[in-house]
Amino acid sequence: MDSSAPKGFLPPQISAIDPRGPISAACTLAFFALVVARSVPSSPGSSLPGFLNPTGLLTWNSFFMFYLATIPGKKILSASLDVLQGAILKYARIDEGESKVKKLEVLEMIDVSYLTLNTMIEFVGLNHIVAFLLSSDTEKRIESFGVYNTFLAFVFCLTVNDLIYYAFHYFAHSRHLYPYCHKQHHRNSIPFRGYLDAANQHPFEQTSGFSIIILSFNLTAKVTGLHASAAWCILLCWGTLEMANHCPYDSEFHLPLPYPLLSKDHQMHHRIPGCNFCTLTSVADRIFGTFRSYQPLDGVAKDDKPKFTGKMMATGPVMLMPNSRPEAFPSWFSVAVLVPMFCAAAIIVEAIESGSIPELFECMHFLRPVIVMINFAGVCAATEGTTPKQMDRPVPQAGYPLVEVVPEGHIKSFNGDREVWKTKMDPVRMTDYKLD
Ligand SMILES: [Zn+2]
Ligand SMILES: [Zn+2]
Repeated sequence: MDSSAPKGFLPPQISAIDPRGPISAACTLAFFALVVARSVPSSPGSSLPGFLNPTGLLTWNSFFMFYLATIPGKKILSASLDVLQGAILKYARIDEGESKVKKLEVLEMIDVSYLTLNTMIEFVGLNHIVAFLLSSDTEKRIESFGVYNTFLAFVFCLTVNDLIYYAFHYFAHSRHLYPYCHKQHHRNSIPFRGYLDAANQHPFEQTSGFSIIILSFNLTAKVTGLHASAAWCILLCWGTLEMANHCPYDSEFHLPLPYPLLSKDHQMHHRIPGCNFCTLTSVADRIFGTFRSYQPLDGVAKDDKPKFTGKMMATGPVMLMPNSRPEAFPSWFSVAVLVPMFCAAAIIVEAIESGSIPELFECMHFLRPVIVMINFAGVCAATEGTTPKQMDRPVPQAGYPLVEVVPEGHIKSFNGDREVWKTKMDPVRMTDYKLD
């Protein structure tokens, strides 16, 4: 125990830093510096290297102005997600409970350094995505708004992104590569800060994440076609879910993808790194047998020490909850919410392209895709309540009392006299029963 720490305060948590991570990060940065130095401006008259300004739209001043604006922008989005899930939707917290796995309570210098560095990498990555979205690879006019290049493109792009990311993430966990790159992201075994825990990564990993989503956009544009409205929605959902996956709530937030992944599934990956490598859909995890269902923190605790917790717990059988849908299906709401998002984005893109707000008759192009999406949302709604789901633990039910949590193999007793009563944990003793 640190004798210099004030009474009642623990000394600051200091964990050993593996130097291989920072060394490889420095090498990655040196490589980027070389690429930036050798890249030519994207537009004539611009002095910004093309790698930093792939759209060709920015000057040095606007580059730094937009860069500075993205920093509070991401923090505001993350804080809004936290308020929405915690204070408004009142989802239960999943980062509390008795467990040997400990969270990274305080960000240390190494974490702050990576986070600071990553603000720039994210901004440059975002610029490259925007350059793709503005390119001729996406369809921008309202008359090209269809089922394939919007809803199907959304599902295809994010599923392909997760399949490619699965392979990258799986190899990042291999024994020889792990200390050089991905170890940084796993410094926190129970993420709870949203953006700050999501972005606490090695710069190579950040760059790979952006490269994979750009590759997925390219593949989608070639296979299903990609309307710019869907592409902007994909970008927004991808970034938001990345933050939500690192929030500490038993949240229902997910995308309309097959076998959608929830934030608690990603928490399982941080706690048990051999499972749940995907981030948005668990398709690849299920194909390769690495999917693991969520278990609450105190549900896997192996604490033998007798201790009185005072916590009340439900008794009775573990219930099968009837109000559940098959794991392969997303919720109807996750599909339905895309309808106004796609339509609003398409109107904005059309207005920018044509210079005027589209007429009402032009919005008739929305009809077919919207009907298909509403039908699919209806199918998802019909699956609600069809699949019994086993709960992680007993839930309070009529006829079964709540009991205090007592460690396995112990009983709670009261000792003392008429004035003073104390609780005491005794090991359970075998009693001889006399058979009649
Ligand atoms: Zn993570
Ligand atoms: Zn990992």
